[in-house]
Amino acid sequence: MPWRLLSLLLCQLAGGALGWWLGNDAGAQAGLIAGALAWLVLDSLRGAATLRWLRRGDAGGEPSVGGLWGEVVDRARRALRVRELEAADAQRRLQEFLAAIQTSPNGVVLLDAQGRIEWCNQTAADQFGFDLQRDMMQQVTNLLRDPAFTAYFNSGAHGRDVIVPGPRSLPSKPVKLSLHLHPYGEGRGLLLSRDVTAVEQAEVMRRDFVANVSHEIRTPLTVLMGFVETLQNLPLDGEERARYLALMAQQAQRMHTLVSDLLTLSKLEGSPLPGAGEWTPLAVLMAQCEQEARSLSQLLGRKLELRFEAPPALELAGSPSELLSAMSNLVSNAVRYTPAGGAVEVQWRTGPDSRGEFLVRDTGAGIAAEHLARLTERFYRVDRSRSRETGGTGLGLAIVKHVAQRHGAELKIESTPGVGSTFAIRFPASRLRAAMPAPAGTSAQPAAESAEAR
Ligand code: ADP
Repeated sequence: MPWRLLSLLLCQLAGGALGWWLGNDAGAQAGLIAGALAWLVLDSLRGAATLRWLRRGDAGGEPSVGGLWGEVVDRARRALRVRELEAADAQRRLQEFLAAIQTSPNGVVLLDAQGRIEWCNQTAADQFGFDLQRDMMQQVTNLLRDPAFTAYFNSGAHGRDVIVPGPRSLPSKPVKLSLHLHPYGEGRGLLLSRDVTAVEQAEVMRRDFVANVSHEIRTPLTVLMGFVETLQNLPLDGEERARYLALMAQQAQRMHTLVSDLLTLSKLEGSPLPGAGEWTPLAVLMAQCEQEARSLSQLLGRKLELRFEAPPALELAGSPSELLSAMSNLVSNAVRYTPAGGAVEVQWRTGPDSRGEFLVRDTGAGIAAEHLARLTERFYRVDRSRSRETGGTGLGLAIVKHVAQRHGAELKIESTPGVGSTFAIRFPASRLRAAMPAPAGTSAQPAAESAEAR
């Protein structure tokens, strides 16, 4: 401030001196006024330059003015610099925040108070089929045209999720999205989406499974209860009683087999993968299968040609009980689905790539191509009555597939209706090795637990 006053006085002094030199007292007075005016003009020009720069609003390119205006410029420049740094920092934080939301496995959509899309992450764009440029600021209900979502959006009751089919959902490949709208700010909305296709499928499978198990158990149970009632109420002779008891035993056996298969499946699902350190001679497994096949065909009273080729001297790595369960399931299926007079052939084949294949071929009714892909589903049966008559549970091939997967093997099925079927478990070379010579005086005893006879 003193400098500002001093500069004004200097200007007046210079003007007065010049005026006095040109025209004594009157010239000095005019010079004083002219000096003050000149100072005012110069000062206004500097003020105008400062104002122009301030209006531009960026810290760079400031005018080089001194004095009071210089200080104004300097202070304003520093304040602008601080504001620019703060804005850059806020922008960086916003970008980091958005990048974090981008990595979310869930869809995130920000809606304005009118329900228009302000921003969404890539997951939401993929799930809803949004175009990140074209669809911004579009009404969300115009883009998500599901009646359930529209009703949910308009209801204002957003305390729950709504499940809608994804826009790319097909009957053959359904996609289910769970949406939840969280209101925030002044009428704004945060729409979160989650792909629940797998969860929904698992839930459907669980429901089907429970329904199937209940149905499978209820049928023999109803029969059993009927017989119990008959035995309780009717005076039966010894022979009739024995016949009824035999039928009851059959139904009880059916339930027992079903429960055993269910337990086997749940054990397969819940136990750790079988290691590759336990080796079982192939001959032991095949001998056990042969024994079971012969007693089953006898039990069913069916005359079949059972050909079991002598296996090579190999050992298989894995769980002996699981391996035996898978192999004997295939053999027992071949016996059960081959009519009297047919043939069942069981052999081991080693491929050129050293992979080994346990192969069961039968001359049974065969299976039409449209059923093949579904055979390993739980409770899937081509011929329901044949399966039940022969004590089937509909779980055998599901067990085989599970065991195969747990041993790095594959289940292969080929079948021609009216000709027969071939089921094979193909093991990787890493699960096979040449058999150790048996110590003298020992015989090949089945090391594995016997699979439940069906
Ligand atoms: P099940 O206990 O009913 O035999 P599986 O899971 O073992 O159940 O087999 C599923 C279905 O596959 C059977 O119900 C049957 O229709 C069919 N199937 C299995 N093996 C054979 C076979 N060797 N020949 C013909 N059909 C078969």
